[in-house]
Amino acid sequence: MSSKMLKFVNTEKAMPKKRNAETRKFDFDEIYAEFSEQKAEEQASRCSQCGVPFCQVNCPLHNNIPDWLMLTAEGRMQEAYEVSSATNTFPEICGRICPQDRLCEGNCVIEKGFESVTIGAVERHITETAFDNGWVKPIAPREEKEQSVGIIGAGPAGLAAADLLRRKGYQVVVYDRYDRAGGLLIYGIPGFKLEKEIVTRRYELLELGGVSFRLNCEIGRDFSFDELRAKHDAVLIATGVYKARDISLPGSELNGVVPALDFLIASNRKSLGDMVPAFDDGTLNADGKNVVVVGGGDTAMDCVRTAIRQNANSVTCLYRRDKANMPGSQREVQNAEEEGVNFQWLSAPSQFLGQDKITSVQAQRIHLGQPDSTGRQVPNLLPGSEFDISADIVIKALGFDPEDLPGMFNQPALEASKWGTISINWKTMQTAIEGVFAAGDIVRGASLVVWGVRDGRDAAEQIDSFIIKSSQEKIQAAE
Ligand code: FAD
Ligand code: SF4
Ligand code: SF4
Repeated sequence: MSSKMLKFVNTEKAMPKKRNAETRKFDFDEIYAEFSEQKAEEQASRCSQCGVPFCQVNCPLHNNIPDWLMLTAEGRMQEAYEVSSATNTFPEICGRICPQDRLCEGNCVIEKGFESVTIGAVERHITETAFDNGWVKPIAPREEKEQSVGIIGAGPAGLAAADLLRRKGYQVVVYDRYDRAGGLLIYGIPGFKLEKEIVTRRYELLELGGVSFRLNCEIGRDFSFDELRAKHDAVLIATGVYKARDISLPGSELNGVVPALDFLIASNRKSLGDMVPAFDDGTLNADGKNVVVVGGGDTAMDCVRTAIRQNANSVTCLYRRDKANMPGSQREVQNAEEEGVNFQWLSAPSQFLGQDKITSVQAQRIHLGQPDSTGRQVPNLLPGSEFDISADIVIKALGFDPEDLPGMFNQPALEASKWGTISINWKTMQTAIEGVFAAGDIVRGASLVVWGVRDGRDAAEQIDSFIIKSSQEKIQAAE
């Protein structure tokens, strides 16, 4: 093993520098700085090069983490980039926004006594170094194939599939109903976690590499699904999940009770320089307001931290379980606490109060009871524990469901799972319709970027096999 490694015994874990909460809460810039070259080498050298690397096992992409850590520690950055980009289409994005505490880093074996290797930050550093040095090049396929693939959805799943298929030489067209590519990377996730230039840089590279984009094009409205199917040799559905889970309580219909994604999209569009009337007229703008966010996942954390940056008067997060049981990343909860968010754990809204407009939320305390069949303790309302929180805007952040399936695209043959997502054969990534594949949140339900990338890559491999097989069958039939 390289003498550069195994330094965890004497070298402490260090995260990249985090901007001070008092400064960062006034802008939407990323809060973590980049590792310097020397810091990245030092932190990578803490890895003990495990024989069975649990970091790799628990990375959805099974990234070859020990190898790229060793190459970084030895200063062999171009090789590190080659290894890292071989399994991950967007390493600089995953390095920034994967919940590493639940994936690679949370399973690093030195975590127990010495704190994990900072895998995500090193992954980001490797790819940023590659961009700085011009090693990240547009795709130049070895051969051009005549077959084409239509991809519905330009989120991480669709873009990862587009990248791999184009590398194999296919003519790839990505359709998206939005005016920009990136899906939730561009319009959901706020800039303080992922600056928008990082996403547009990838989009521009894909375009330069010959992937065609048809933006502002909604399949089912501008083109029928059947038209698309007739146009391409295979189709990938990567449309994500967008139907917000609702709260049905007295007062839910009051003005000022808004869905999380509307709030975040308005904020992201504003940061991108767009005209956003609902932001300018105050409907989706927290400036000077008392804000209550209901929910405890990553979306809720993005909402509370966005409201802080919009200069809200107060920001309260209501979550029905305790801090230890939050579904969101603990790192994000800590960031939100530092930025001044008031968390009301073990609390849930019981009604929204106001005439036409929300003025306050009545909430109730919760006691966690016996675990249910999923192993999670059941939240029970505590009678007589009601309390009021002043609110000018309430943001509902309770998660997302798929749109109407199987009515989607008017294709009754598309089978839905019991969760309402598209059913696929996981071996072939194919739906019940031949030549139609699906990937990302529309298959898994609301998930993670890294799983979207994984599915998109898997789907691309399966689409390639399908097209090769179909072409061979056509040739045999003609003979
Ligand atoms: P999406 O990113 O949703 O992309 C789907 C695309 O399909 C969209 O661009 C949409 O416009 C398009 N589309 C839909 N229907 C049509 C149609 N009919 N015609 C044309 N186009 C269509 N994950 C993390 O790993 N880390 C995080 O920190 C994180 N933060 C998040 C914060 C928020 C607020 C949200 C909502 C999610 C977050 N996630 C995070 C989850 C992550 O963003 C998703 O799991 C991921 O983006 C799913 O990728 P996807 O490609 O399946 O779908
Ligand atoms: Fe960790 Fe995500 Fe990178 Fe995998 S892709 S190594 S889980 S940060
Ligand atoms: Fe290195 Fe930790 Fe992975 Fe082991 S689990 S190879 S120490 S990063």
